[in-house]
Amino acid sequence: MENKNREFVLVSKKDEAENIASLFFKPADGAGFNFIAGQYVSVKVPSIVGRSKCYTISSSPNEKLICLTVKRQGVFSSALIDTAINDKLIFGGPYGKFYPEENCEDIVFIAGGIGVTPFFSVIKEKINSKAKPKLTLLYSNKTISGIAFFDELNDLAKNKGIDKLVYFLTQEKGKHPLVQEYSRMNKESLKKHLVSFGKRNYYLCGSIQFVNAIWKDLKESGVPEENIFTESFY
Ligand SMILES: Cc1cc2nc3c(=O)[nH]c(=O)nc-3n(C[C@H](O)[C@H](O)[C@H](O)COP(=O)(O)OP(=O)(O)OC[C@H]3O[C@@H](n4cnc5c(N)ncnc54)[C@H](O)[C@@H]3O)c2cc1C
Repeated sequence: MENKNREFVLVSKKDEAENIASLFFKPADGAGFNFIAGQYVSVKVPSIVGRSKCYTISSSPNEKLICLTVKRQGVFSSALIDTAINDKLIFGGPYGKFYPEENCEDIVFIAGGIGVTPFFSVIKEKINSKAKPKLTLLYSNKTISGIAFFDELNDLAKNKGIDKLVYFLTQEKGKHPLVQEYSRMNKESLKKHLVSFGKRNYYLCGSIQFVNAIWKDLKESGVPEENIFTESFY
């Protein structure tokens, strides 16, 4: 596994959702970059000296460019999103073990907001792999304009790359044909969409509060702790 610091060049940017942008990089030395879908890098930006922050790689290993999808929150994420094309940043890593094991057959991803990034990478990787696990994504956002990867995820669900995709909106009411729930996730809605809590692995990602709340709901619904895997963005 690589973990030395390397320079990456920003090649392009894309607005992904409200206050969320995808940044596409290539290694400055022209060599390859190996990572496992679900891993993250530590990033240094030139304007903020002496700090690095972690960002999940939202592209999958079979894509040409390395993508970080970043929500504009405080000083660091804003500086990262505002990086100019052709600027070079230092990445450390890849790091992390937040990805399903090879032999997992039934996987439930539960994302709060920007916590969808590792799942987007893993789902794109799985659809091109030999093993075809059953994939469910429950994805909570405040509003529809804040949903990252909305079109791509809908295409993946349509083409059976994702077996079940359920959107939750917590701060918007409406009747969008693709949004099933206008509420926070809770034990009842998890049960409704997961039908049973049987032999599956659950991967939770989002804010610490989101991850803790869903972990508790799953646990109280009878899911064994060893089947719940978490990553919190802080
Ligand atoms: C393993 C890992 C992977 C991650 N992957 C991603 C990713 O793929 N995409 C992504 O966008 N982020 C990701 N993150 C989060 C990322 O590392 C940063 O934490 C995030 O970008 C916020 O950093 P910031 O400095 O911009 O904001 P911060 O300054 O840290 O602020 C974050 C939020 O907290 C609020 N806040 C700050 N200080 C206070 C205070 N004193 N009181 C109340 N509120 C406050 C801010 O208003 C803002 O809303 C990941 C984190 C980890 C640990």
